[in-house]
Amino acid sequence: MLKSRMFTAAPLLVVIQLLLVGCVEQNNPEVNVYSARKEALIKPALDRFTAETGIQVNLVTGNADALIQRLKAEGAASPADVLITVDAGRLYRAKSLQLTQAVGNKILNNAIPESYRDPENHWFGISLRTRPIMYAKDRVNPADLSTYEALADEQWQGRVCIRSSSNIYNQSLVASMIAADGAIAVEKWAAGLVKNFARKPVGGDRDQIRAVATGQCDVAIANTYYLFGMLQSADAVEMATAEKIGVFWPNQQGRGTHVNISGMAVTQAAKNTDHAIQLMEFMLQDETQTWYANTNGEFPIKFGIGIHPIQAAWGAFKKDAINLAELGQLSPVAMKIMDRVGWP
Ligand code: FE
Repeated sequence: MLKSRMFTAAPLLVVIQLLLVGCVEQNNPEVNVYSARKEALIKPALDRFTAETGIQVNLVTGNADALIQRLKAEGAASPADVLITVDAGRLYRAKSLQLTQAVGNKILNNAIPESYRDPENHWFGISLRTRPIMYAKDRVNPADLSTYEALADEQWQGRVCIRSSSNIYNQSLVASMIAADGAIAVEKWAAGLVKNFARKPVGGDRDQIRAVATGQCDVAIANTYYLFGMLQSADAVEMATAEKIGVFWPNQQGRGTHVNISGMAVTQAAKNTDHAIQLMEFMLQDETQTWYANTNGEFPIKFGIGIHPIQAAWGAFKKDAINLAELGQLSPVAMKIMDRVGWP
Protein backbone atom coordinates (compact mmCIF):
# COMPACT_ATOMS: atom_id res chain seq x y z
CA MET A 1 0.00 0.00 0.00
CA LEU A 2 2.65 2.45 1.12
CA LYS A 3 4.85 1.33 -1.70
CA SER A 4 2.23 2.05 -4.34
CA ARG A 5 1.54 5.52 -2.91
CA MET A 6 5.22 6.33 -3.16
CA PHE A 7 5.21 5.25 -6.78
CA THR A 8 2.30 7.54 -7.62
CA ALA A 9 3.64 10.46 -5.60
CA ALA A 10 7.11 10.46 -7.11
CA PRO A 11 6.14 11.53 -10.66
CA LEU A 12 3.76 14.11 -9.16
CA LEU A 13 6.63 15.59 -7.15
CA VAL A 14 8.74 15.81 -10.27
CA VAL A 15 5.91 17.61 -12.06
CA ILE A 16 5.52 20.06 -9.17
CA GLN A 17 9.26 20.67 -9.13
CA LEU A 18 9.31 21.29 -12.86
CA LEU A 19 6.43 23.73 -12.52
CA LEU A 20 8.27 25.54 -9.75
CA VAL A 21 11.45 25.76 -11.78
CA GLY A 22 9.38 27.07 -14.69
CA CYS A 23 7.81 29.70 -12.44
CA VAL A 24 11.16 30.80 -11.07
CA GLU A 25 12.55 31.23 -14.58
CA GLN A 26 9.52 33.17 -15.69
CA ASN A 27 9.70 35.38 -12.64
CA ASN A 28 13.31 36.29 -13.35
CA PRO A 29 13.62 36.79 -17.06
CA GLU A 30 16.88 38.46 -17.94
CA VAL A 31 19.16 39.55 -20.72
CA ASN A 32 22.90 40.12 -20.55
CA VAL A 33 24.32 43.10 -22.39
CA TYR A 34 27.94 43.91 -23.25
CA SER A 35 28.05 47.61 -24.04
CA ALA A 36 30.84 49.78 -25.38
CA ARG A 37 28.65 52.72 -24.47
CA LYS A 38 29.36 54.19 -21.06
CA GLU A 39 26.73 53.40 -18.45
CA ALA A 40 25.21 56.91 -18.41
CA LEU A 41 24.69 56.76 -22.19
CA ILE A 42 22.69 53.53 -22.17
CA LYS A 43 21.51 52.44 -18.72
CA PRO A 44 18.50 54.76 -18.37
CA ALA A 45 17.07 53.22 -21.56
CA LEU A 46 17.74 49.71 -20.27
CA ASP A 47 16.06 50.58 -16.97
CA ARG A 48 12.98 51.72 -18.85
CA PHE A 49 13.04 48.45 -20.80
CA THR A 50 13.04 46.54 -17.49
CA ALA A 51 10.21 48.67 -16.14
CA GLU A 52 8.11 47.98 -19.24
CA THR A 53 8.84 44.29 -19.75
CA GLY A 54 9.96 42.94 -16.38
CA ILE A 55 13.11 41.63 -18.06
CA GLN A 56 16.15 42.34 -15.96
CA VAL A 57 19.17 43.70 -17.84
CA ASN A 58 22.62 42.77 -16.60
CA LEU A 59 24.96 45.36 -18.03
CA VAL A 60 28.69 45.03 -18.58
CA THR A 61 30.38 48.13 -20.02
CA GLY A 62 33.87 48.28 -21.44
CA ASN A 63 36.19 49.46 -24.17
CA ALA A 64 34.77 48.58 -27.60
CA ASP A 65 37.71 46.52 -28.83
CA ALA A 66 38.22 44.88 -25.43
CA LEU A 67 34.59 43.71 -25.37
CA ILE A 68 35.02 41.97 -28.74
CA GLN A 69 38.20 40.32 -27.44
CA ARG A 70 36.31 39.23 -24.34
CA LEU A 71 33.47 37.71 -26.39
CA LYS A 72 36.05 35.87 -28.46
CA ALA A 73 37.87 34.55 -25.39
CA GLU A 74 34.63 33.43 -23.70
CA GLY A 75 33.36 31.65 -26.80
CA ALA A 76 30.20 29.58 -26.38
CA ALA A 77 30.45 30.03 -22.60
CA SER A 78 29.97 33.79 -22.84
CA PRO A 79 27.08 35.05 -20.71
CA ALA A 80 26.47 37.88 -23.21
CA ASP A 81 23.23 37.92 -25.20
CA VAL A 82 23.54 41.34 -26.83
CA LEU A 83 26.54 43.36 -27.97
CA ILE A 84 26.07 47.14 -28.21
CA THR A 85 28.98 49.00 -29.75
CA VAL A 86 30.00 51.88 -31.99
CA ASP A 87 31.12 51.86 -35.62
CA ALA A 88 29.96 49.37 -38.22
CA GLY A 89 33.59 48.32 -38.63
CA ARG A 90 33.48 46.77 -35.16
CA LEU A 91 30.15 45.05 -35.78
CA TYR A 92 31.59 43.72 -39.03
CA ARG A 93 34.62 42.44 -37.11
CA ALA A 94 32.42 40.76 -34.48
CA LYS A 95 30.46 39.04 -37.24
CA SER A 96 33.66 37.95 -39.03
CA LEU A 97 34.87 36.41 -35.77
CA GLN A 98 31.56 34.48 -35.61
CA LEU A 99 30.56 36.22 -32.40
CA THR A 100 27.10 37.24 -33.66
CA GLN A 101 24.06 35.47 -35.09
CA ALA A 102 21.43 36.28 -37.70
CA VAL A 103 18.09 37.66 -36.53
CA GLY A 104 15.22 37.75 -39.00
CA ASN A 105 12.95 40.47 -37.60
CA LYS A 106 10.39 42.63 -39.37
CA ILE A 107 10.29 45.37 -36.74
CA LEU A 108 14.03 45.93 -36.98
CA ASN A 109 14.10 45.67 -40.77
CA ASN A 110 11.22 48.11 -41.18
CA ALA A 111 12.60 50.67 -38.74
CA ILE A 112 16.22 50.71 -39.93
CA PRO A 113 17.19 51.87 -43.43
CA GLU A 114 18.91 49.11 -45.37
CA SER A 115 22.31 50.86 -45.42
CA TYR A 116 22.54 50.65 -41.65
CA ARG A 117 22.03 46.96 -41.02
CA ASP A 118 23.92 43.85 -42.01
CA PRO A 119 22.64 42.33 -45.29
CA GLU A 120 22.67 38.98 -43.48
CA ASN A 121 20.85 40.35 -40.42
CA HIS A 122 23.73 39.96 -37.97
CA TRP A 123 23.85 43.57 -36.79
CA PHE A 124 21.53 46.55 -36.69
CA GLY A 125 22.09 50.28 -36.31
CA ILE A 126 20.68 52.15 -33.31
CA SER A 127 21.86 55.68 -34.14
CA LEU A 128 23.74 57.58 -36.84
CA ARG A 129 27.13 59.19 -36.34
CA THR A 130 28.04 61.86 -38.87
CA ARG A 131 31.64 62.75 -39.79
CA PRO A 132 31.66 66.03 -41.71
CA ILE A 133 34.27 68.75 -42.19
CA MET A 134 34.45 71.33 -39.40
CA TYR A 135 35.95 74.76 -40.03
CA ALA A 136 37.00 77.96 -38.28
CA LYS A 137 34.09 80.33 -38.84
CA ASP A 138 36.35 83.39 -38.68
CA ARG A 139 38.98 82.15 -41.16
CA VAL A 140 37.28 79.82 -43.61
CA ASN A 141 34.62 80.66 -46.15
CA PRO A 142 32.41 77.57 -46.40
CA ALA A 143 32.07 78.33 -50.12
CA ASP A 144 35.70 77.16 -50.41
CA LEU A 145 34.74 73.73 -49.09
CA SER A 146 33.17 71.00 -51.21
CA THR A 147 34.28 67.39 -50.70
CA TYR A 148 36.55 65.21 -48.55
CA GLU A 149 38.52 64.70 -51.76
CA ALA A 150 39.14 68.45 -52.15
CA LEU A 151 40.88 68.67 -48.76
CA ALA A 152 43.96 67.26 -50.54
CA ASP A 153 44.11 70.34 -52.80
CA GLU A 154 47.00 72.74 -52.47
CA GLN A 155 44.86 75.52 -51.00
CA TRP A 156 44.63 73.52 -47.75
CA GLN A 157 48.37 73.07 -47.31
CA GLY A 158 49.28 73.17 -43.61
CA ARG A 159 45.64 73.76 -42.63
CA VAL A 160 44.11 70.31 -41.97
CA CYS A 161 43.75 68.52 -38.62
CA ILE A 162 42.59 64.92 -38.32
CA ARG A 163 43.29 62.17 -35.81
CA SER A 164 45.49 59.12 -36.33
CA SER A 165 44.82 56.45 -38.96
CA SER A 166 44.74 53.82 -36.21
CA ASN A 167 41.27 55.08 -35.34
CA ILE A 168 38.38 53.13 -36.78
CA TYR A 169 36.44 56.31 -37.68
CA ASN A 170 39.12 57.23 -40.22
CA GLN A 171 39.42 53.66 -41.44
CA SER A 172 35.68 53.61 -42.15
CA LEU A 173 35.79 57.06 -43.79
CA VAL A 174 38.68 56.07 -46.09
CA ALA A 175 36.91 52.77 -46.84
CA SER A 176 33.85 54.76 -47.97
CA MET A 177 36.09 56.80 -50.27
CA ILE A 178 37.62 53.64 -51.75
CA ALA A 179 34.11 52.37 -52.51
CA ALA A 180 33.35 55.64 -54.31
CA ASP A 181 36.66 56.57 -55.96
CA GLY A 182 38.71 53.36 -56.11
CA ALA A 183 41.90 52.48 -54.23
CA ILE A 184 44.33 54.15 -56.65
CA ALA A 185 42.61 57.53 -56.49
CA VAL A 186 42.26 57.30 -52.71
CA GLU A 187 45.96 56.55 -52.23
CA LYS A 188 46.80 59.67 -54.22
CA TRP A 189 44.27 61.63 -52.18
CA ALA A 190 45.59 60.33 -48.85
CA ALA A 191 49.14 61.32 -49.79
CA GLY A 192 47.89 64.82 -50.60
CA LEU A 193 45.93 65.05 -47.37
CA VAL A 194 48.96 64.06 -45.29
CA LYS A 195 50.94 66.82 -47.05
CA ASN A 196 48.25 69.27 -45.96
CA PHE A 197 48.34 68.28 -42.28
CA ALA A 198 48.87 71.25 -39.96
CA ARG A 199 50.53 68.92 -37.47
CA LYS A 200 51.18 65.27 -36.80
CA PRO A 201 47.86 63.68 -35.73
CA VAL A 202 47.43 63.90 -31.98
CA GLY A 203 44.46 63.22 -29.72
CA GLY A 204 40.86 62.40 -30.51
CA ASP A 205 38.19 64.21 -32.52
CA ARG A 206 37.54 66.75 -29.76
CA ASP A 207 41.22 67.71 -29.84
CA GLN A 208 41.00 68.37 -33.60
CA ILE A 209 37.98 70.63 -33.00
CA ARG A 210 39.88 72.53 -30.29
CA ALA A 211 42.90 72.88 -32.61
CA VAL A 212 40.68 74.53 -35.23
CA ALA A 213 39.27 76.89 -32.61
CA THR A 214 42.72 77.89 -31.33
CA GLY A 215 44.10 78.44 -34.84
CA GLN A 216 46.48 75.49 -35.14
CA CYS A 217 44.50 74.44 -38.19
CA ASP A 218 41.60 75.81 -40.22
CA VAL A 219 39.65 72.64 -40.95
CA ALA A 220 39.21 69.25 -39.33
CA ILE A 221 37.26 66.07 -39.95
CA ALA A 222 35.41 65.02 -36.81
CA ASN A 223 32.23 63.35 -35.60
CA THR A 224 29.47 65.82 -34.78
CA TYR A 225 28.54 64.34 -31.37
CA TYR A 226 31.79 65.77 -29.99
CA LEU A 227 30.82 69.26 -31.12
CA PHE A 228 27.26 68.62 -29.87
CA GLY A 229 28.66 67.81 -26.42
CA MET A 230 30.94 70.85 -26.39
CA LEU A 231 28.06 73.14 -27.36
CA GLN A 232 26.14 71.88 -24.32
CA SER A 233 29.12 71.95 -21.98
CA ALA A 234 28.80 73.45 -18.51
CA ASP A 235 32.33 74.75 -19.06
CA ALA A 236 32.08 78.26 -20.59
CA VAL A 237 35.51 77.97 -22.26
CA GLU A 238 34.57 74.70 -23.94
CA MET A 239 31.30 76.20 -25.14
CA ALA A 240 33.05 79.31 -26.50
CA THR A 241 35.51 77.02 -28.30
CA ALA A 242 32.67 75.13 -29.94
CA GLU A 243 30.92 78.34 -31.00
CA LYS A 244 33.91 79.14 -33.25
CA ILE A 245 33.31 76.00 -35.30
CA GLY A 246 31.15 75.63 -38.37
CA VAL A 247 29.84 72.32 -39.70
CA PHE A 248 30.15 71.68 -43.43
CA TRP A 249 28.45 68.65 -44.97
CA PRO A 250 30.80 67.49 -47.72
CA ASN A 251 30.02 65.64 -50.97
CA GLN A 252 26.47 66.96 -51.19
CA GLN A 253 26.59 67.07 -55.02
CA GLY A 254 27.74 63.45 -55.10
CA ARG A 255 27.36 60.47 -52.81
CA GLY A 256 26.74 62.44 -49.60
CA THR A 257 28.51 62.85 -46.26
CA HIS A 258 30.06 59.84 -44.56
CA VAL A 259 27.97 58.43 -41.73
CA ASN A 260 28.46 55.51 -39.41
CA ILE A 261 26.37 53.91 -36.70
CA SER A 262 26.23 52.75 -33.17
CA GLY A 263 24.66 49.34 -33.34
CA MET A 264 23.72 46.05 -31.77
CA ALA A 265 23.81 42.34 -32.40
CA VAL A 266 22.63 39.14 -30.76
CA THR A 267 25.71 37.16 -29.78
CA GLN A 268 26.43 33.69 -31.10
CA ALA A 269 26.53 32.46 -27.49
CA ALA A 270 23.16 34.02 -26.51
CA LYS A 271 21.02 32.00 -24.12
CA ASN A 272 18.22 34.57 -23.82
CA THR A 273 17.65 35.11 -27.51
CA ASP A 274 13.99 36.14 -27.25
CA HIS A 275 14.71 38.75 -24.59
CA ALA A 276 17.69 39.95 -26.63
CA ILE A 277 15.45 40.53 -29.65
CA GLN A 278 12.83 42.22 -27.47
CA LEU A 279 15.54 44.61 -26.24
CA MET A 280 16.68 45.35 -29.78
CA GLU A 281 13.09 46.14 -30.80
CA PHE A 282 12.82 48.42 -27.77
CA MET A 283 15.88 50.37 -28.96
CA LEU A 284 13.94 51.24 -32.12
CA GLN A 285 10.85 52.59 -30.33
CA ASP A 286 10.28 56.30 -30.98
CA GLU A 287 10.81 57.38 -27.38
CA THR A 288 14.01 55.34 -27.02
CA GLN A 289 15.33 56.65 -30.32
CA THR A 290 14.85 60.27 -29.25
CA TRP A 291 16.38 59.75 -25.81
CA TYR A 292 19.32 57.75 -27.11
CA ALA A 293 20.15 60.13 -29.96
CA ASN A 294 19.93 63.23 -27.75
CA THR A 295 21.91 61.63 -24.91
CA ASN A 296 24.69 60.53 -27.23
CA GLY A 297 24.59 63.59 -29.49
CA GLU A 298 23.91 61.33 -32.44
CA PHE A 299 21.09 61.17 -34.99
CA PRO A 300 18.11 58.81 -34.68
CA ILE A 301 18.36 55.95 -37.15
CA LYS A 302 14.65 55.31 -37.51
CA PHE A 303 12.62 57.00 -40.22
CA GLY A 304 10.57 59.98 -39.09
CA ILE A 305 12.12 60.75 -35.68
CA GLY A 306 12.82 64.44 -35.04
CA ILE A 307 16.36 65.65 -34.35
CA HIS A 308 17.77 67.94 -31.65
CA PRO A 309 17.71 71.73 -32.37
CA ILE A 310 21.53 71.88 -32.21
CA GLN A 311 21.67 69.35 -35.05
CA ALA A 312 18.85 71.01 -36.96
CA ALA A 313 20.89 74.25 -36.94
CA TRP A 314 23.61 72.50 -38.98
CA GLY A 315 21.11 72.08 -41.81
CA ALA A 316 19.68 69.13 -43.67
CA PHE A 317 22.18 67.01 -45.55
CA LYS A 318 22.51 64.06 -47.87
CA LYS A 319 24.10 60.96 -46.38
CA ASP A 320 26.28 58.45 -48.20
CA ALA A 321 23.91 55.50 -48.73
CA ILE A 322 26.57 52.80 -49.03
CA ASN A 323 25.81 49.70 -46.97
CA LEU A 324 28.13 49.88 -43.98
CA ALA A 325 29.06 46.21 -44.34
CA GLU A 326 31.07 47.29 -47.40
CA LEU A 327 33.15 49.59 -45.21
CA GLY A 328 34.15 46.65 -43.04
CA GLN A 329 35.24 44.76 -46.15
CA LEU A 330 37.31 47.67 -47.44
CA SER A 331 38.86 48.66 -44.10
CA PRO A 332 41.98 46.49 -44.51
CA VAL A 333 42.66 48.20 -47.86
CA ALA A 334 42.10 51.59 -46.23
CA MET A 335 44.58 50.78 -43.46
CA LYS A 336 47.25 49.72 -45.95
CA ILE A 337 46.80 52.92 -47.95
CA MET A 338 47.03 55.15 -44.86
CA ASP A 339 50.11 53.27 -43.77
CA ARG A 340 51.81 53.60 -47.17
CA VAL A 341 51.24 57.37 -47.38
CA GLY A 342 52.63 57.89 -43.89
CA TRP A 343 49.39 58.91 -42.13
CA PRO A 344 50.48 58.25 -38.55
FE1 FE B 1 33.85 58.70 -30.48
